[in-house]
This record gives sequence, C-alpha cells and structure tokens, in this order.
Amino acid sequence: MNFLAYHDELTGLLNRRGIYKQVEDQINKDLFFATILMDVDLFKDINDHLGHAAGDTLLKLITMRLENTVKNSGLIARLGGDEFLICLTEMKNSAEVKELIEDIQREMKKPFKIEGQQKEITLSMGISYFPKDGEDYNILIKHADMAMYAAKKAGRNNYSEYRAALEKEMLAKITMYEELKIAIEEEQFELYYQPKHSVKDGDIIGVEALIRWQHPKKGFVSPGDFIPLAEETDIIIQLGNWIINQAFRQFKEWEKEFPVPDSFQLSINISPKQFIADNFIPLLLKNLGEFSISPEKIDLEITENLAIENTELTREKISLLKDLGFQITMDDFGTGYTSLTYLSKFALDRIKIDQSFIRDLPYNNSHVAIVQSLVSVAKNLGIKVTAEGVETTGQLQCLYEWECDEVQGFLYSKPLSSIGFTNYWHKMICVQGNKD
Ligand code: C2E
Ligand code: MG
Ligand code: MG
Repeated sequence: MNFLAYHDELTGLLNRRGIYKQVEDQINKDLFFATILMDVDLFKDINDHLGHAAGDTLLKLITMRLENTVKNSGLIARLGGDEFLICLTEMKNSAEVKELIEDIQREMKKPFKIEGQQKEITLSMGISYFPKDGEDYNILIKHADMAMYAAKKAGRNNYSEYRAALEKEMLAKITMYEELKIAIEEEQFELYYQPKHSVKDGDIIGVEALIRWQHPKKGFVSPGDFIPLAEETDIIIQLGNWIINQAFRQFKEWEKEFPVPDSFQLSINISPKQFIADNFIPLLLKNLGEFSISPEKIDLEITENLAIENTELTREKISLLKDLGFQITMDDFGTGYTSLTYLSKFALDRIKIDQSFIRDLPYNNSHVAIVQSLVSVAKNLGIKVTAEGVETTGQLQCLYEWECDEVQGFLYSKPLSSIGFTNYWHKMICVQGNKD
C-alpha cells in the first residue's frame, strides 16, 4: 500500500506524489538540479490505432529506456498518461543536462517492437532549473511545462529550456484568447474578398473570402496573428462556422445582383481542425440549404499540413466532398512538407502555388524552375493551378507563358470590403462586356 501511494502501478516509476516528495527533499539540499517534463508526441494516435494494451506496453518500454539512460543521474516519475517527469540531481550544469537529453532522444529513436509492428516515437521536453527558474516544486513544474509547450510548437522531437520571455508570450496568448472569445460574441470580424482572375483572358472567375479582425483598441489584427491561436484553442470551429455562414450570405446577395456565370466560385479557407471536425460537412450542407447555393459554386481551400497529419481521414473527406459537388484546392502549395504524391493521392481540383515562389519571378532561377514544373505536373494530372501573390506584369507574363490557369494578387486587386468588391465586380463586368 505504501509503495502504491508513491509509485505508478503500470511502470513502477514514482508517481506525482512520489516525485513531489523527492523534489522537495532536493530543494531542501539547496543544490543545482533540473526538472524535465516530457510527453510522447502523437501518443494518442498510437493508443487509438493499436489499442490501449499496446499503449501500455509502449509506456513500459519507454520507461525501460529512460531508466537505462538516466541511470543514477536522477529520478524518473510518470505523472499520468504519456507524461513523464525527470529530476536530474547529479548534473553539474545545464550543458550536462542537455547532453543527457540528447542521449534520451537518440535512445527513443530506435524503433520499438509492439504487437509485431515497428514503432518509432519522439518526445517533447521542457526543462527548468533549480534555483534559477523556480524555488518550489509547483513553479519548477509550471515553468518546465511552459518550456515543453514551446518545444512542441517548434515541431516534434524537440526540447527547450524555460525563459522568462515564455511567460510574457503565454500571457499575450491568454489575453488574445479572451479577446477572441469576446470578438466572436460582438462580431468584431468582417470578411474581405479578393478576386481571382483567369490568366488567359483576365476575366474575373472567382473570389476568396479572407477574414479581418477589427479590434476595438488595437485596430486591425492580421489573420496571420490570430488564426493560429484560434486553431490551437478550438475557437476556429466557432469562427469557421461564422465565416462559412457570412460568406454564403454575401455570395447569395451577389447572385441576386450579378449574372454570376456557372463557373464562378467562392473560395473559403478551411483550417485543419475545422475540416476534420465531425460536423464539418453537415454544417456546410446546412448553410448551402439556408442560402440555396449549389455546392459546385464552393471551393474549399485546405492546407498541406492537414493532409500530412491526417492523411487517411483527409483523403476520405475530400472524396466525400467531391461526390457532393464541392471543389477542393490545396492552398500555399510548396510551403509545407510537400510531397508530389499528395497530388495523386487526393482528388484535388486545384493547387495554389504559394506567393513565396511567385514573388521573385522571373529573376530567381530555381523558383522559375519550380513554378514551371509544378504547373506542368499539375496539368498532366488534370489539376488546375492558381498563382497567388501576383504583383507585377512580369510575373503575370511568365505565368501566361507557362499556361498557369488562374492568378490572384495585388496586380489585380487587394482584398476588398464587400462593398469594395461589389464595385470592383461591376467595373470588371463593364470591361469584360466592352471586350466582348
Ligand atoms: P491565404 O489563404 O494564402 O491568403 C493569401 C494571403 O496573401 C492573404 O493574406 C492576402 O491578403 C495576401 N495577398 C494576396 N495577394 C497578395 C499580393 O499580391 N501580395 C502580397 N504580399 N500578399 C497578397 P491575409 O488576408 O492576411 O491572410 C493570411 C492567411 O490567413 C491566409 O493565407 C489564410 O491562411 C489565413 N486566413 C485568412 N482568412 C481566413 C479564413 O477565413 N479562415 C481561415 N481558416 N484562414 C484564413
Ligand atoms: Mg487561401
Ligand atoms: Mg495561400
């Protein structure tokens, strides 16, 4: 009973209570030590795919490797789930601590054999040091946790040390999170619209909805600054629903006002969390019904990272959406861990080449080669190509020669308010009419 009070049943390591007591003892000695908080990247996936028994086996195997690496340098605890805490008491300085952490990383990289399968895992780790980063258990853990969070944000298989700046960043995030919740309630958002044009004849062929946040004190906040946080905190689900509803409502208004050609499309950016949510398709259909818009008019812009992290689900959902009549575009193509296999794996209608490749056309030889080749590969696969961020006639000229299909960028227009875009569209119709 006494053993179980201080130890974890599954691994035999110290538990939360056990390590607390040990760390308190260390603090009383008043000597340098490090606390390392770690969790297994994507552990949930392993649990979901191989089952909980396999998950338990993996935790035991990880424990063995941790014990073999840490040896007598400190104490190891399992705090719960896939979260471990190491208290390194026998190290002289942070350099030694980091050396040991790198040993752990190397050790974990060797494949684990579970249920006849080879599994490789990585860990995210956060470090705090006594007494520099905290003088009691709770502060040390809190700071190690912040550092671990920063490590996770930097990508998997990382570790980071606590820095005071993390606290400021965290505070700024918490503040923005609260402000975002209010912003949704008070509808401080507005959709802007940027036209898409055909390269061949310059005709307007569609429009992309882009969100804007008019903060009551800070003024305009760029989506690049708040969409990632909205995505991290699930606020994106609510916000995404609002975007879909608002964009469809606007599109219906335009359908009443303009002779919208059959091929004209409304593009909406869909964030990964929104896309994989169970209610995403029902929600789309509900909104289509509300405004009686046909799915063929809607183009959903998704990102490569979605496809990489949830390959099978994404493939299935894309094919379902396509069966329903929606179009699918892969946005910012070339910026993620792009693999050309995605082009054949997913039934995409279009890729949008990221503006970073367009910006320095025609002067950057490797970007010339990349864009030209991408257009050609996509074309051979029957996938359309949009170039984003087109600002100069020189860029447009290249894209014309390479037979890229569509362009978007400041050369034609910046994103406009709904009134601005309505006026722009009227003007374009006059120009196109005169041309005919
Ligand atoms: P994105 O979807 O790739 O949108 C293109 C971004 O490039 C937009 O920035 C647009 O204003 C900007 N842009 C367009 N043409 C040019 C150009 O010629 N030159 C330059 N320098 N920039 C150009 P914005 O509106 O700040 O949006 C940034 C990103 O935020 C978007 O990238 C998208 O990933 C995300 N975002 C914006 N609105 C939404 C939304 O409604 N939902 C979701 N999930 N994400 C959104
Ligand atoms: Mg986009
Ligand atoms: Mg883009």
